[in-house]
Amino acid sequence: MSHGNGKYVVETLMNKCRVCYTCVRECPAKAIKIINGQAEVLGERCIACGNCVKVCSQGAKIYVSNTNELLEMLDSNDFVIAAVAPSFPAEFDEFDDPRALVPMLRDLGFKLAVEVGFGADAVAQAYQKLQRESDQEIFISSDCPAIVYYIEQYYPKLVSSLARVASPMVAMTRYLKEKYAPRNPKVVFIGPCIAKKAESNEVDCVITFQELRQVFNARQVTYEAGKITDFDPPHAAKGAVFPVSKGMLHTMGLHDDLLSGDVVVAEGKQNVREVIQALDSGEIKARHVELLSCEGCIMGPGMSPQGKRYQRKAHVANYVASKLARLDWSKWQVDLDFIGQLDMSQSFQIMDRRSKTPTRERIDHVLAEMGKYDSSDHLNCGACGYSTCEKHAMAIIDGLAEIEMCLPYAIEKLHQSLSALDQSNHLLDDAKRALKHQEKLANMGQLSAGIAHELNNPLGVITMYSNILLDELAQDDPTRNDVELIAEQADRCKKIVGGLLNFARKNQLQKSEYSLVEFCKQSLQSVVVPDNVQVEFSSDVQRAIAFFDYDQMMQVLTNLEKNAIEAMPHGGTLSVHLKEHDETFEIRVSDNGTGISPENMDKIFTPFFTTKGIGKGTGLGLPLVYGIIKMHHGKIEVETNNQPEKGPTGTHFIIHLPK
Ligand code: ADP
Ligand code: MG
Repeated sequence: MSHGNGKYVVETLMNKCRVCYTCVRECPAKAIKIINGQAEVLGERCIACGNCVKVCSQGAKIYVSNTNELLEMLDSNDFVIAAVAPSFPAEFDEFDDPRALVPMLRDLGFKLAVEVGFGADAVAQAYQKLQRESDQEIFISSDCPAIVYYIEQYYPKLVSSLARVASPMVAMTRYLKEKYAPRNPKVVFIGPCIAKKAESNEVDCVITFQELRQVFNARQVTYEAGKITDFDPPHAAKGAVFPVSKGMLHTMGLHDDLLSGDVVVAEGKQNVREVIQALDSGEIKARHVELLSCEGCIMGPGMSPQGKRYQRKAHVANYVASKLARLDWSKWQVDLDFIGQLDMSQSFQIMDRRSKTPTRERIDHVLAEMGKYDSSDHLNCGACGYSTCEKHAMAIIDGLAEIEMCLPYAIEKLHQSLSALDQSNHLLDDAKRALKHQEKLANMGQLSAGIAHELNNPLGVITMYSNILLDELAQDDPTRNDVELIAEQADRCKKIVGGLLNFARKNQLQKSEYSLVEFCKQSLQSVVVPDNVQVEFSSDVQRAIAFFDYDQMMQVLTNLEKNAIEAMPHGGTLSVHLKEHDETFEIRVSDNGTGISPENMDKIFTPFFTTKGIGKGTGLGLPLVYGIIKMHHGKIEVETNNQPEKGPTGTHFIIHLPK
């Protein structure tokens, strides 16, 4: 009979998983796939060790339940036998005498209750025989089904070293099926192990101690102190000590060989893995290797939680001591001879589930995607569930893991998103401010357009009549000065009104291609420059062809240049400098004049804000500049210093014009 019945034992409860990766870390077979933020068990890779079931704090990993199957069997007319694993004293530690379990099993409807410990006695006997007769060099014990699965799937080289002996459960089943053949018995194994559910087709049903308690509850079968019955024969001898570590050795009487180096014992995921690797690579050689996936069967995933290992061990030891004292050894020998004649063999097959090792290049590529470029980036923190970054990368290539499982990567991503968010917040703030400003300008524009329009006609009349009057007045007329003043001021008013209309104009841009170098030079020629002001033009760019509305941009530049000149009443240098960036041209209009005070900086783009005194400034230059630049999808910045103690004073207006 070959090992395994192909059943999948562990199930995932979707949506309960909180992706802590503990199961990934604990799974020796790497049978857990993280997909869409859920840790899913891959049935064909799973070795049913139950580690994930034990460690999942969310209860997202469960093992399949066979309680309904059992209840149906018990309700039928079948001859159902309970085969109880030798760890039962560790599970039912609330009983004064563990044998109180037997009447409870009978109450439930089992026709017989027997100890699988006897199967362990038989297996020990078969092992010894095999070791005597076979020329096999290494014997790896095959009684832990999770270990057998692990070797069959991931260490094909070692499959031939598995001892080809049935497990105690299967041995016991074969005995019962032979002994009670006429009654066609159904054998139910009750134990601490969930891998047993996938071990064999010979057993009719496998339930855990936890499931047995559920069935007791469902059928209202309770413990009664003092109600004790012994198990049905055959009785177990030393095989009853099987479920504690080194139990098999004790059963075989091999403990003396422990010091000889011929015997290697390992239990628990980590130790077992190390020993198997060392056996595979030939690092260790031993005749007998006993491997248990759990720390002894008494720590199996089908036990009720919270029991302490040493207490459980003590319960089993006490039970074994008292039962050995009671044992009828001659009767035991008869039973052992009977089972000794049965076929106790077991075969194993290679079911290679190893992943192919990806190329160095692919691994490096995935590592780079996680932001790991050299060994110093490999934190090997284990947060992802894999012991090294490289193993994580290999699992990603295998489709078992996701990049997002890497904690340092996730933190880095989070930081990036935070700063991106910060940046877009800033941009949003800027846009809000610009919008507010725009709105203000639009309102002002509407108002000023209205006023300007109404004022234009009466101003025309005043100008015309004052000029007519001037023409008619003699040169020495005493009123001439007054009329001249009226004409002059009316003229000035017209200029202001003209500016207002300019500002309010929401006209379309008439864009064409122009050379910025020529354009800047021309702008400088169209302003009146006093003698005490030097003018400079420089350019980093040879060919700066930009697309803009010539007339309106000319207003921008001349306004800035006029302001610069007006800021240097005692002379200085007005310079225009042209630069090129990736996506913009930059025109910088600079002066070394008075500079702008910090409190005025907020106001300079506000219509009618001027520091130039009545009759001199209109305060409409910069708002106009701002509006035109915005219409060109450009940007304007100001750098200024008005405090001589902080360095040379002056102002730079910097225009960025998209190419
Ligand atoms: P106006 O020139 O009519 O005053 P603007 O809108 O052109 O109106 O300028 C507004 C104000 O900004 C000016 O009155 C001045 O205080 C300040 N300003 C503009 N350009 C400069 C500059 N280059 N240096 C110092 N102050 C300036
Ligand atoms: Mg001005």
